[in-house]
Amino acid sequence: MLPGHYGRTVEIDLCGGCHLVWFDLSETARLTGPALLDLIGAMARTQDLPHLTLRPDAGCARCGATLKTVHNRSRWGRSLHLECRAGHGAYQSFAQFLQEKGLLRPLSLVDRARLLERHGHIDCVNCGAALGKGDEQCRYCGSVPSLLDVARLARALDPEGVLEPQAVHQDPARQEAMQCGACGAALPPGLSVDCAQCGATLAISRLGDAHERVATLGPALRAHAHKPAPEVVRRRLDALDADLPRRREFAAKMQAEADQRRGRGEVGDWGDLFSSGTNPLRAVLLALAIWFVWYFWG
Ligand SMILES: [Zn+2]
Ligand SMILES: [Zn+2]
Ligand SMILES: [Zn+2]
Ligand SMILES: [Zn+2]
Repeated sequence: MLPGHYGRTVEIDLCGGCHLVWFDLSETARLTGPALLDLIGAMARTQDLPHLTLRPDAGCARCGATLKTVHNRSRWGRSLHLECRAGHGAYQSFAQFLQEKGLLRPLSLVDRARLLERHGHIDCVNCGAALGKGDEQCRYCGSVPSLLDVARLARALDPEGVLEPQAVHQDPARQEAMQCGACGAALPPGLSVDCAQCGATLAISRLGDAHERVATLGPALRAHAHKPAPEVVRRRLDALDADLPRRREFAAKMQAEADQRRGRGEVGDWGDLFSSGTNPLRAVLLALAIWFVWYFWG
């Protein structure tokens, strides 16, 4: 059980050996920063386990019903969406979860060479197994080799930008431009692992290393979730204010539609009241309405 937005708890099950995460329907979007951090930590810990293929008779984490495989071949590899037939939720691979959160980058040949040169190995972001230099997909879990983008991970953990800007937490627009997120230096084509200029690590293939890098944000994220800083509360209120005209417009439209229905005579003979010509009842109602307005707003 992990904290979700709006005070809800989100129930998440990890299947360690299979490197799958179960979400009840539409729960992934509701994870808070600290919950996402905990989940990534839990995923990283299961990567010490050798990868298993999900038992064919595995069932829904809620009702036990058989699962239907939703094949979805993307450039990120075999999709492992295993949905409950009764619609309770689905299992997906760690890599797919991270990809849906926008945290993965494709692993280029330049990146592979750099990782091998620096660390002597490339890890599967999904199951943690070692990848061969030219592997198109992980030999164990079938995931396409990819990298976890450190700056995007920091942003996903702290979408409101409440923590002090960190070297790992920079403008994502600059990341898209293939520049170093820490110093702004242009990166050679295909390289997204680290920056030759300032030495910052920009993307990581091992989930545990990525988690270690952002785990220091944990206490501040938890403190923020518990009691948001005043300027964050103000920003949220400003956002609500900006939304008010749209809400008023919506309410006015609903009212107009209701009036129109009434005007069509669906409620008794109210239609008569709005017709032209004098009507004693209308005069009385009008007077009442004016008194009412005067009484409450006068
Ligand atoms: Zn399993
Ligand atoms: Zn079910
Ligand atoms: Zn793998
Ligand atoms: Zn740099």
